[in-house]
Formats: sequence, structure tokens, C-alpha cells
Amino acid sequence: MNDILPDEAYCWEFFEDTVNEWLSSYGYQNIRMPIVEQTDLFVRSIGAVTDIVEKEMYTFVDHLNGDSLTLRPEGTASCVRAVLAHNLLYQRPQRLHYAGPMFRHERPQKGRYRQFHQIGVEALGFSGPDIDAEHIVMCARLWNKLDISGVRLEIGTLGSVESRALHRARLIKYFEHCLDALDDDARRRLYSNPLRILDSKNPAMREIIDGAPKLIEDLDEDSRIHFEALQQILRNQGIDFEINLQLVRGLDYYNRTVFEWVTDRLGAQGTICAGGRYDGLVAQIGGSNKHSAPACGFAMGVERLLTLMQECGKEISPPMPDAYMVHQGEAAANFAWKSVEFLRSNGLKVIFHCGGGSFKSQMKKADASGARFALIIGDDEAQVEAVSIKPLREPANQVSVGLGEAIDLIKEQR
Ligand code: ATP
Ligand code: MG
Repeated sequence: MNDILPDEAYCWEFFEDTVNEWLSSYGYQNIRMPIVEQTDLFVRSIGAVTDIVEKEMYTFVDHLNGDSLTLRPEGTASCVRAVLAHNLLYQRPQRLHYAGPMFRHERPQKGRYRQFHQIGVEALGFSGPDIDAEHIVMCARLWNKLDISGVRLEIGTLGSVESRALHRARLIKYFEHCLDALDDDARRRLYSNPLRILDSKNPAMREIIDGAPKLIEDLDEDSRIHFEALQQILRNQGIDFEINLQLVRGLDYYNRTVFEWVTDRLGAQGTICAGGRYDGLVAQIGGSNKHSAPACGFAMGVERLLTLMQECGKEISPPMPDAYMVHQGEAAANFAWKSVEFLRSNGLKVIFHCGGGSFKSQMKKADASGARFALIIGDDEAQVEAVSIKPLREPANQVSVGLGEAIDLIKEQR
């Protein structure tokens, strides 16, 4: 879990501003859920036999009432719970987004944190492949906006519940024939959740996983048509993709479309964004088919995206104040207070010197602040309601002007 200090936080702010603009350009609305939920919500939705639920959740007992609570490891389950709790799907489908910290007790390693941040996007109440495509097209636009290059898109399909059941049986048969080659996790999951074995991060398992039967061979006709249609839209939109028939994702609730955006620039943790369709989840969380709604969504890892932006050479300049107000004496301070508020009302970013001290020591602080100008008010200036402007970043003379002129002067040189 990391502190994000000011020398880094401004990059987060740039990222968040860009993301919010991008999301609203697609008509997605913001939703904010609590960070803590009933443990059961995650167990039921993500799946009891998954890395997240088996090993990674921060779960604790609320000693006041004995409830089992969990710090959210992801956002989709909470989002669906909130949508159902407030009946948001009653009138129309929903395009939603959220952002915030997620918590997973993973082994510490580069690119994996125990508190990390996601931007999540969910579209609920849509069944066609057009919305799956919209999500992918959106991502491509964002990479562009962030000057991120060299990410590849992998797409796959998990089919329907029925085709997964068929596939499950074939997988069990296949893995039963190579029991000796399975690691502990895989052996334990062979009968409870064999699809999970395909998501193993153990390199020793790679070969046997590559040889496993592919779900596409058991795919139902409707899912095949859905997958074909998605590919057609992507081709029409000029989005390159690779089909990865082994893509299973780390959460159980997905069906049909799954996708990941992957980069080679971040070492082992190359997935920057991942998602897919989860048509069964709404009914499952709602507890009955009456509440069912098809849906899909994705989440991106903010830390990984920020690192990738850096790797791609994206330069984000830290926000610098326009001016630093230096002042001395009571009358001067009074006028300086009024002046800075007036300048801020006119759109300038101004730091007001606090803490007294000589002009010389104040000027040092003005210089260290990064401001482009020092504004100086002494008794002389206060008397005629003027301010002396001294450029700090280039050699130029100090001039004394009225506040209106000061605003023009500073804005001109931005
Ligand atoms: P993996 O298979 O790599 O563990 P996952 O299936 O757990 O991934 P998701 O739950 O789909 O991943 O998370 C979506 C995105 O959030 C990931 O692609 C990644 O960018 C980011 N992410 C997930 N876990 C972490 C983490 N511990 N630290 C930083 N970012 C993370
Ligand atoms: Mg994981």
C-alpha cells in the first residue's frame, strides 16, 4: 500500500481529468460505492474457488454485530449491488463508471499492490455485441489520449453457461490424464473449478494448459454469432486484435466476451485493462431471475497505466503557481490580502506568503515555489494600490502596475 506524494499526485490528477472527460464523452455517469461490503457479496459473485476469494481478500468481523465484512477487491459486484438496491435498471439501461482503491492481499511484487486503484466501467441492460465493442473502442481512444502506444488487444469468448458446462467436463477429463503435472492449486480446483486452472500464473503449468481443450470447440451457436459480430465491428472500426482462446480472467462471473489490453513494457504484470460480459451476475446478486439483466464492463489498473505512460515518454508538467505574493508591514499585508483574492477571482493561481520575514527571505521562498512572478507589496505600493511584478524565470525588469494591468501582464506571459 503506497502513499502518493505531491510530486507524483499531479500525474494522478492529470490522469483523472483526462479519464473523466473521456468517460463523459461516451455518456457514462459516475457512481460511488462504499469501500466495505458484506463478504458474501464477493464470495458469491467472484466465485469461492478463485485466487481473490481464496487468498487475497481483507476480511474482518464487525465486532459490534458479528457481520463478516471485506474491503472491496474489485468494483463490479458493489456496482451491481448498488444498481439493484436502488432499482436503477427499472426505467432504462445504465452506463456507469467509478474509480477508487481496491484491496487484494497479493504477494508483493512489481506492478502488484495490496491497495491499488481501478477505473471501472459497467454497462447494464445491454445484450448485443455493440456495447462490448463500444468498451473496446473506448479503451483505444483513451490510450491515444494518454499517448500510450504498443498495447495489444486480446479477445476471447467463454460462451454460455451450458457451453461452459460441456467444456468443464472435457477439461476435467484432460487434466485427469496429467495429474502428476498439476500444481497444488490446480489439483485442488480440478473438480470444483477446472476453468480456473487455465488462469494459473505458474510457468511450470504453461505447457499443459496450452494443450488443454479450447472452449471454442464447445461454443454454442448464439455465443459464436455474438463473438463474430464483435470482431466485425472491431474490424470496421480499425481496431487490431488477437484472438486468445485461453483467456479466462480471474473472476468467475464472466460469460461470452472477455478481453485484455496487454503491454510488454511492464514486465510480468502486463495487463493494463481487462473486462468482459457478465450476463448472469445481476440475477445472481439480485437473488432471482426477475432481476436479470445482461451486462458487460471492464476495469483498468491506474498504477500500471501511469507507469506505462512514463515508459512511453509522456511528459506531464507539474502545475505551477502564476505568482507568489511577498509583502511587509501592516498596511501592505492588508492590501496584499485583498489583492491575492482579487487575482484569484480573475483566474490566477497565487500563493500568499505566510509567516513574515525579510523581503530577502520571502523572495527566496517565491523562487522555490516555482511561480513565474513575484508580486511585491510594501508600504509604497499599498499607498497607491499598486503591485510590483518581478519575473522570476527570466531576466527582466521589475515594474509597478495596478492590479488590472498585473492580471493582463501575467496572463499574457502564460
Ligand atoms: P491477474 O490475472 O493479473 O491477477 P486479475 O484478473 O486479478 O489480473 P482484474 O481483477 O481484472 O485482474 O483487474 C483489472 C486490472 O486491475 C488489471 O488488469 C490490472 O491492471 C489491475 N490490477 C489488478 N490487480 C492489481 C494489483 N494487485 N495491483 C495493481 N494493479 C492491479
Ligand atoms: Mg489477480
